[in-house]
Amino acid sequence: MTIMNGKELRDKTLKGLKKKVDKLGTTLGLAVIQVGTDEASTVYVNQKRKMAHEMGYKFVYKLFTRNISEKNLIREIDILNKDDSIDGILVQMPLPEHINPKVIQNSIDVNKDVDGLTLTSIGRLINNEEGLVPCTPKGIVALLDYYKVPIKGKNVVVIGRSMLVGKPVANLLLNRDATVTLCHSKTKDIKAYTKNADIVIVAVGKAGFLKRDMIKKDAVVIDVGINRIDGKLCGDVDYVNVSKKASLITPVPGGVGPMTIAELANNVYEAHILRNKI
Ligand code: NAP
Repeated sequence: MTIMNGKELRDKTLKGLKKKVDKLGTTLGLAVIQVGTDEASTVYVNQKRKMAHEMGYKFVYKLFTRNISEKNLIREIDILNKDDSIDGILVQMPLPEHINPKVIQNSIDVNKDVDGLTLTSIGRLINNEEGLVPCTPKGIVALLDYYKVPIKGKNVVVIGRSMLVGKPVANLLLNRDATVTLCHSKTKDIKAYTKNADIVIVAVGKAGFLKRDMIKKDAVVIDVGINRIDGKLCGDVDYVNVSKKASLITPVPGGVGPMTIAELANNVYEAHILRNKI
């Protein structure tokens, strides 16, 4: 069994990207909007700030109180849409209940949509056209490629159908000619699907969800989950037991998580290229 090292690939990706960014001779800009001071959101914002610093990106952080109106938030996004020094904009989720996340996502200029969550970006992905793709799914595919996991013609089961992870990763792999099954909370007998999968991707948010008896021998297992049990970080896979049967597996932490940040750095660069038609 091989552990898929997301930290190693993140470092390599950022190193290679830094060379490309330096060649551009311009400072790229990433803007992050946060509403309220949700603890997990603040941790994620700090990871993004650190990455921006390492990459030499300008980092604009806008923090608003939870009572900001949807209209005012859109106005703030529009200022960033028009700011030529900003290449990528993202809004940290979750938002307070009075703000519709879909409306907010879609108010971001599609050429600055580094989260890949505007309807246009989603449409481009489904249509297999060039565009900005959500970072976590992109990171998963990058890890599969790095470890030379064949995708074409393979059976892939994705558990979880969120817009952030499940649906986009399913589409990315479909675009790479995999046969993809998307499972969710209403799927009957998930094991019947995972048992036949060459690659299983779990993005559910439940610790220990994928058990050893659910996979076939030598399957590739990608664990997207981030759960905290007694203050300790763990994924959605029963790692100790599943790792004995899998051929390749991502750990938590140190697997998909670091790749999400690397792909965000990539998306800022790609957004700059797209917007400036370089
Ligand atoms: P989400 O929006 O809550 O979606 C969870 C999905 O899991 C839903 O589609 C849900 O099905 C499905 N699900 C829930 N219980 C299930 C069950 N018993 N059987 C089968 N499916 C079930 O979560 P998300 O944003 O995709 O995130 C998933 C996990 O990945 C979380 O732990 C999150 O923290 C983590 N995550 C990690 C990264 C990273 O960088 N590593 C990035 C993003 C997310 P329904 O649609 O039917 O409700």
